[in-house]
Amino acid sequence: MYEIKLHDKHVEKFKEKYPLIFKESVVGYQLLESSDIEEGQLLRLTDSKGKFVATGYYGLQNKGLGWILSNNEREKIDDAFFLKKVYQSVEKRLGLYNNPKTTAFRVFNGEGDGIGGLTIDFFAGSYLINYYSKGIYAFKNQIENAIKKSVEFDAIYEKCRFEDHQEVNDGFIAGKPLTFPITVMENGVKLSIFFNEGGMVGVFLDQREIRKAIRNQYAKGKTVLNTFSYTGAFSTFAAVGGAKSVTSVDLANRSLEHTLKNFELNHISPENHPILVEDVFHYFKFAQKKGLIYDLVILDPPSYAKSKDFTFSAEKDYPTLLADAIKVTSPKGIIVASNNSSNITLEKFKQLVGKGFNLANKRFKIIEVHQLPKDFRTHFKYEESNYLKVLFIQMD
Ligand code: SAH
Repeated sequence: MYEIKLHDKHVEKFKEKYPLIFKESVVGYQLLESSDIEEGQLLRLTDSKGKFVATGYYGLQNKGLGWILSNNEREKIDDAFFLKKVYQSVEKRLGLYNNPKTTAFRVFNGEGDGIGGLTIDFFAGSYLINYYSKGIYAFKNQIENAIKKSVEFDAIYEKCRFEDHQEVNDGFIAGKPLTFPITVMENGVKLSIFFNEGGMVGVFLDQREIRKAIRNQYAKGKTVLNTFSYTGAFSTFAAVGGAKSVTSVDLANRSLEHTLKNFELNHISPENHPILVEDVFHYFKFAQKKGLIYDLVILDPPSYAKSKDFTFSAEKDYPTLLADAIKVTSPKGIIVASNNSSNITLEKFKQLVGKGFNLANKRFKIIEVHQLPKDFRTHFKYEESNYLKVLFIQMD
């Protein structure tokens, strides 16, 4: 165990179970970074007098130096530790396991389930492990064994979301290899999933409640514009919910075939539902010029995006993006505005939305506020883990 000292002013925070080992909390962290300590090393964090505060691991992410694993000096970080964490996380999702209409959800959510840097998702009988640092990847064997002992599975796959790592066999680890895409169900709607196209797998599981609300309450008979549409998951739910037409816009070529696939799985004829491979910012200009108007506009941009002609950063550019969306939304129409930047709080996001409406000189009412669904467990001391904000906004 490698011992590191915390600055006294931060000790209380860790005693109260703050999970992230952030640079400024560690005495001489520059030395730590330049030392030969390897990622995955267990750390004993102490106060200035050398008294135990917590056990953690060294694993570099842009967020910090690693994560706390335990505040109990006697707790060993061994096979049994990982088994207990995974087993407990599975138990907390039994409701989802037992729901035949939903076969895709998060089983283990990083620090919210007690181990930062690690997520595990369930997709129709198979598991996908995401490792966010070399440090947590050092515990790969224990984590895999914990899954094997806790659940039955068709296949287990892994993704390494840190640099210098090349996946072998699409990250296949155990069970029987899958042929991609596979099909999952979400609240009775089918979605196509693949583990072999980089970090994204076809669906963002944290938007499950939003897709359901759009299908059940907002889509029927409406004209819908889904921007940054990716695989058209929102579009599919809107179409299943009886939308008159759904227009999907995404810059990436792959979005076309993926969206068609999701439509096909749900017997949606693409005729009334154009899928455009195009820059959203261009499309807004085109739509304004043509006077196109939609009843429901979905805005779920990435935190940062760069295209040929535009760069977008949520913090800086959300208001202007929203102002563009407002111009193509019908009177009394609805805008679903989503943001997943962990450094933007719900309050701050509401301010950005207010700014957007000011720019467009329009009034609005927030009619629904959504945050993460239950399977995306958050950490009560770490606000950044509660990153998702989705507002259903009505034009007034
Ligand atoms: N809203 C989607 C997920 C969006 S992922 C869903 O929930 O399913 C972000 C998407 O934005 C990517 O597919 C990317 O290709 C697209 N994108 C990024 N910049 C863009 C731009 N300027 N115009 C159109 N699409 C863009």
